[in-house]
Amino acid sequence: MSNSVNKLRSALVTGGSRGIGAAICRRLAQQGFAVVVNYARSADAAESVVADIRAAGGVAAAVQGDVGRREDRQRLTAAALEKFGRLDVLVNNAGITSVGRRDILEATEESWDAVFDTNLKGPFFLSQIAAKEMIRLIRAGLVPEGHIINVSSVSAFAVSTNRGDYCISKSAVRMMTQLFAQRLAEEKIFVHEVCPGVIESDMTAPVKEKYDRLIAEGRWPIRRWGRPEDVASAVGAIVSGAFSFSTGNCFLVDGGFHIRTL
Ligand code: NAP
Repeated sequence: MSNSVNKLRSALVTGGSRGIGAAICRRLAQQGFAVVVNYARSADAAESVVADIRAAGGVAAAVQGDVGRREDRQRLTAAALEKFGRLDVLVNNAGITSVGRRDILEATEESWDAVFDTNLKGPFFLSQIAAKEMIRLIRAGLVPEGHIINVSSVSAFAVSTNRGDYCISKSAVRMMTQLFAQRLAEEKIFVHEVCPGVIESDMTAPVKEKYDRLIAEGRWPIRRWGRPEDVASAVGAIVSGAFSFSTGNCFLVDGGFHIRTL
């Protein structure tokens, strides 16, 4: 491991192979972070994100790991430390939608378990492991401060009766953010939620027509699809230190969808 790499701040982005996570990886690399691009299954996609970052002069490595599995969470954090010598930022981005998008009267425990393992249990326990490493590094004077960013969703507050497990998991991410923000502020680790609206990605591709229609009807005031880069910009701003007296915030990136009208 070279000293020049050690001087770079390091970020672990879960689900960095595609969509919003890939844009966050590229953005953080542009801002000078050495990035661990985590993926579960899409090795080629993750390697292509890494290749893009390296071609642009950045530093990145792809690391496989299912955030729902305890041993993988340990391995992911260890990989950041082994490859880049430090860990400054964790972005809990990996997420899945409800399996089969079934009405709540037909919803299955299998979908519930898969969604909660990936969207809530994984981020909670990965934050726990990463926070302990960050505390160690900060107390040793090796890292000035830490950031944990949890990617939630407008489904934390907007009901979709065919994705109950997804909505509840994202709603819980809001409380999880507050809990870690409260606990970690004294350790100089700042914890925020970034809450996207409808963003163009593989996740929303199967329901593209529905969202095209909602946009045309003006369901949210900024009448367009959100882009992964819109979410990545918010993450980039948070880790830039622009919000130095803030923790536990929810940064909405939703085109104004949250505004209620009469
Ligand atoms: P996506 O295009 O489906 O990409 C999902 C990413 O998560 C992939 O990189 C995938 O890796 C990874 N992933 C899935 N399960 C994983 C696991 N168990 N462990 C590690 N990585 C895993 O989704 P997206 O639209 O970019 O969504 C990213 C985040 O934003 C999610 O938390 C989602 O809930 C949230 N969000 C999305 C929208 C939207 O409209 N798209 C709106 C609000 C919130 P592999 O390819 O290797 O499996």
